[in-house]
Amino acid sequence: ERAVEALTRLVRDIEDFPEPGIVFKDITPLLADPAGFGAVVEAMAAAGRDENGAVVVDKVVGMEARGFILAAPVALALGVGFAPVRKAGKLPHDTHQVDYALEYGEAVLELHRDAVAPGERVLLVDDVLATGGTAGATCDLVRRCGADPVGFAVLMELGFLDGRAALGEVPVHALQRI
Ligand code: IMP
Repeated sequence: ERAVEALTRLVRDIEDFPEPGIVFKDITPLLADPAGFGAVVEAMAAAGRDENGAVVVDKVVGMEARGFILAAPVALALGVGFAPVRKAGKLPHDTHQVDYALEYGEAVLELHRDAVAPGERVLLVDDVLATGGTAGATCDLVRRCGADPVGFAVLMELGFLDGRAALGEVPVHALQRI
C-alpha cells in the first residue's frame, strides 16, 4: 500500500549514528514529502478506528521528539486531543514520572497528570519501536493517570530487538517490521 511504499522509498539508513554500530532510521525525507507523510499519518490513524471506521480512542499520546511530529496529525485525523510525553524537566505542570532503562543507564519520562483522564482509551504514537523501553514507560505513565493504553502505532518495528515484549497485552500496529 501507499504508506509502506513511502516508508521504503523515503526513510534512509544512517550508519554509525548516533554512535558507532547503530543504523539510524532517518524519517526526515518522509516528512518532507506531503503525499508520503499524509499516507503514513492516515495508516497510523487506522489503529484508532474499528473495522467500520468509527474512532475508538479518546486521546493520542506522542513521545518526544519524533513521536510528536506523527502523533499530532494522527490526533487531528481522529478528531481527538494530543498529549506529549517528555524527558524529565520539560513539562511545566504536575507530572507523573517513570524511570526506564536505556542501553546504558536509565532515563525518566514524564506526562502531565491531567493530560489524560481516568478511563480514557489512549493510542500511543512514535516513529520507531526498538527495545520497547520508551513505549513500555509511556504505557506506565498512561496507567498512572488511570487511563488505558489500547494500542501503539509506529512506523517501523525493529523486530530483532523484540520491543513488543515491553508492551505486554497492548497491540502494536507497525506499518513496517524490519
Ligand atoms: P526504544 O525505547 O529502545 O524502543 O527506542 C525507541 C525510541 O528511540 C523512539 O522514541 C525512537 O524515536 C528512538 N529510536 C530508536 N532507534 C531509532 C532509529 O533508528 N531511528 C529513529 N529513532 C529511533
